[in-house]
Amino acid sequence: MSKYFNTAVYDPEYKRSDIDQLLQDKMTYIAGDFWGIQNFIFDGLTTQNAAKVLRSKSAFVQIYTELLAKYICFTLSIAEKYIISNNAGKFEILVPMESVDIKNIQEKVDDYFIKNFFGLSGISIVSLSLTKDDWTKNYKAFRDTLAINMENTKYQKFNLLKQTPILEYDTNLDNKTLCKVCNIRKIEDEYCHICNIFIELGRKLTQKQVQDIYADELGIFFDNFNPKIKLDNRIKSYIPNKEDGEPLLFSDIANNSCSNDENGIKALGVLKADVDSMGNFIKQSDVTQSFENFDEFSKGIDSFFSLYVPKLLREQYRNIYTVFAGGDDLFLVGAWDEIMQFSRVIQKDFKTYINYNKTKLSISFGISIAKPATPISYLAEHTEELLEASKELDGKDGLTIWSESVKWKSYIEVYTNLELIFQNYQNLETVTVYRFLEFCNMSKNVANDIKNSMWKSKLNYLFSRNMNMDKDKELLMGLDKYISQSPSETKIYLSEFVYKRRAV
Ligand SMILES: [Zn+2]
Repeated sequence: MSKYFNTAVYDPEYKRSDIDQLLQDKMTYIAGDFWGIQNFIFDGLTTQNAAKVLRSKSAFVQIYTELLAKYICFTLSIAEKYIISNNAGKFEILVPMESVDIKNIQEKVDDYFIKNFFGLSGISIVSLSLTKDDWTKNYKAFRDTLAINMENTKYQKFNLLKQTPILEYDTNLDNKTLCKVCNIRKIEDEYCHICNIFIELGRKLTQKQVQDIYADELGIFFDNFNPKIKLDNRIKSYIPNKEDGEPLLFSDIANNSCSNDENGIKALGVLKADVDSMGNFIKQSDVTQSFENFDEFSKGIDSFFSLYVPKLLREQYRNIYTVFAGGDDLFLVGAWDEIMQFSRVIQKDFKTYINYNKTKLSISFGISIAKPATPISYLAEHTEELLEASKELDGKDGLTIWSESVKWKSYIEVYTNLELIFQNYQNLETVTVYRFLEFCNMSKNVANDIKNSMWKSKLNYLFSRNMNMDKDKELLMGLDKYISQSPSETKIYLSEFVYKRRAV
């Protein structure tokens, strides 16, 4: 049984912290947050090589965060059971000491990110002294203080001016010596030493027999501390791979789209999604009233994205590549038709899982459809803009695709009804479907130009000329109703229909 989740959909897997055993009269709370994840994953990356390293860079965020949490315990000579959470690039440690100076550790981390990643990303660490009463009686206030402290630390980031002498940019870079994957570092053999690490990690993530990895194999050196990190399902996630274990290239993934249809365009679908108004929900609910509530809620949400989503992909959507799945968001790249199908399923599963009728928590989506040659960093940015357009919708729960932003409820209603009608029209000529699409645009713009109200008579005329008014009555009535009531939703349905039938 779960306080927050309907476990009939998915029974979340996570380790609950046995907090009573950890609480002391005086403690220090240490939290870490990986910032600049987008830069870290995408900067300079070419699409051709993207599939080789995207997942492993995202996994690296998780691994580095976990290592750092462990290293902090090691430095303070405390057991790792004091790490009370670690997911989506964040960790929290409840240290049984009155105060802890984290300055040294922060400097080590800053050094690493400046040397290896030009300071475009990093981890902010905050430490707060607190008492048992703060924790048990005033948890909400404590979380507010923590959030403010984390924001301040992130704003300061590291003082680049002070660090300038450490920055060592490679000199004499030219076309021959520049790494083809990251486009910023000098090659060592085929690629630079950092990209080599990511490519090797990418291979390990797809191999069942590889269970763990040492820190130094990833080029991470914390003094003499070199622990093994378990490559569990959360870190491995799911990516499509070839028989030899190499990740499938994005061009191959695009080619696998519409595999059940004779025609259909071969393209990538890029999906970005996250939970709507999560901050507000947490503030207004009982989530931050106690650590136990917060622990269950945040780990249950993370588990849905980091374990349930990859499981679903592995079982049913094998041409979808997980760039990121965890915390409360998703970033996937896949065969465009599978991405569409998956989005319909996951928005519904989430609502059931989170008891939507009670919580009103939903996920909004941005989806772009593109040829695999499109630069991946552009696609990431563009899809983010689509997601932001969904977030403009009142009450959110939105989807933006093909320049239309719609609510899931109305889209699914239109989709379900049209799907029933169109199953008898699988061989409809694409030129006819394009006419329907044109009518959707006209219906949307009636207010701008009265001529657009002609769409109804044009639709009738088209049917009288090309169809059978008796036999095709259901189709005509359905189109008339939905183009009139929900032109955007109908446009999305028809676009998918036509993309599946259009020869490349
Ligand atoms: Zn490189």
